[in-house]
Amino acid sequence: MNAPHPEFEKSELSQPQVESPKNIVVLGATGSIGTSCLQILEADTLPVKLLGVTAHHRWERLAEQCRQFAPRWAVVSDDQQRDQVDAAQFPETTELLFGRDGLEQISRHDDVDLVIAGIVGAAGLQGTWAAVEAGKTVGLANKETMVVAGPLVMALAEKTGATIIPVDSEHSAIFQAMHSGKQNEVRRVVLTASGGPFRGYSGKQLENVTIEQALAHPTWNMGPKISIDSATMMNKALEIIEAKWLFGLSDDQIEVVIHPQSIIHSFVEFLDGSVIAQLSPPDMKLPIQYALTYPYRMEGTSPKLDWRSSFTLDFEIPDEDLFPALTLGREVAARGGSCGAVLNAANEVAVELFLAGELNFTDIPRVCRAALDMHNYDPTPSLDDLLRLDNWVRQEIKQWTSF
Ligand code: NAD
Ligand code: MG
Repeated sequence: MNAPHPEFEKSELSQPQVESPKNIVVLGATGSIGTSCLQILEADTLPVKLLGVTAHHRWERLAEQCRQFAPRWAVVSDDQQRDQVDAAQFPETTELLFGRDGLEQISRHDDVDLVIAGIVGAAGLQGTWAAVEAGKTVGLANKETMVVAGPLVMALAEKTGATIIPVDSEHSAIFQAMHSGKQNEVRRVVLTASGGPFRGYSGKQLENVTIEQALAHPTWNMGPKISIDSATMMNKALEIIEAKWLFGLSDDQIEVVIHPQSIIHSFVEFLDGSVIAQLSPPDMKLPIQYALTYPYRMEGTSPKLDWRSSFTLDFEIPDEDLFPALTLGREVAARGGSCGAVLNAANEVAVELFLAGELNFTDIPRVCRAALDMHNYDPTPSLDDLLRLDNWVRQEIKQWTSF
C-alpha cells in the first residue's frame, strides 16, 4: 500500500475520526437551511444526533420533522402560536417548548455540542448568542448575527471557547481555504457572487422588476429574504461585513467578483500569489455537512463536480452604480460600530415592504442609505444598544410615507 506523505500524517486532520456522535440542535429547522440540514441527517451516515429543532410559525411542519427524527425538544419560537399548536401531533418523547426562552434554553443545554444557526434575520441573534455564550460549536448560516454584532460575537467566542464554523457557502469556502496558510500570510479574500437574477439588467429594467422575478434565483434555491438580498446584491454586502468580523480582515483585504456559475464558492490569495479556492456544484448541503463533521470530511450526498462534461468559469467585476448595496456593504464594514445593526434592520424592513408590494425594488438600497445617514453613529455599542437600535430603525422606517 502507498504510504501517505509524512507531512499530512502530522496534520490534525489525520487523527482518527470522531467515535461518539455530536449532539446537535437546528435553529430554524423548517427553513431552507434547516430542511437541508435535516436532509443530510436523513441519510443517517454522519456521527450526529438531532436533539432539538425550532420553528417560528410552521408548527405542523415542525411536528412532521419531530415524527420523523424524534428529537428530545421542539421549540415553537413564536409565543403567540401557543394556543394554536396541537401537541398531540408531536411524539410523546419530544418535549414541546415555546417562545424565545425555549430557543435559548436548548441552545445552551449542557448535552448540546453543536448548534446550527439557521434562523433568518436579526431574530437569529439571540439563539446564536446563547450558544456562543455557552461555549458551543456553532454552524453559522445566520449571517445577520455577524452583520449586527460581529465584533461582540467574536469577542464572546474568544472568551467562552466557542467555535464558529461558517455555513454561508462563501465563508465556508474561505474557512476551508484558510487551512492552507496562516492568517498573516493572507493577502486578500475574494467573495464570489452569482450576480442574482438581474445580472446584466439596465438601471431602467431594474426599476420595473416584479417580486416573482426577484425571488427566482438562477443558481440557488433559498428562503425569500436571502433571495431578495441576492437580487439587490445586499446579500454580498452582508457577506463582506460577515467576512470582515469572522476572519479578522482589513477592509482592503475583501473583494467581490461576479461568478455566474456558482461553482467557485470564494477564494483566498496568499502572500506568495497562490490562490486557494473551494469548488463544488451549488448545494448548501455541502457547507452544512462540513460544519457538522469539521474537522473531518466524510462521504456525503451532495452532487460532485463532473469534470468530464465541459463547463466554463466566468468572472466579472460588479457594477456598483446598478447595485449600490455593495457600496453600502463596504462602507458599513469600514465604519463598523452601530452601522451593521442599522443597515441590517433597514434592509429587513425594506425587503418585507418589497415582498408586500409596498416598495419598489430599487428603493431597497435607498431606504438603507437613508437609515444609515440619519442614525446617531456609535463606534462602540453594547449588545443592548444594538438591539435598541435595531428596534428603532424598524419603527422609524415603518412611519416613512415616501421613499
Ligand atoms: P428561511 O426563511 O427559509 O427559514 C428561516 C427559518 O427561521 C424558519 O425555520 C423560520 O421558522 C425561522 N424564523 C423566522 N423568523 C423567526 C423569528 N423571528 N424567530 C425565530 N425563528 C424564526 O431562511 P433560509 O433561507 O433558510 O435562511 C436562514 C439563514 O441562513 C439566513 O440568515 C440566510 O441569510 C442564511 N443563508 C441561507 C442560505 C440558503 O441557501 N437558504 C445560504 C446561505 C446563508
Ligand atoms: Mg452566501
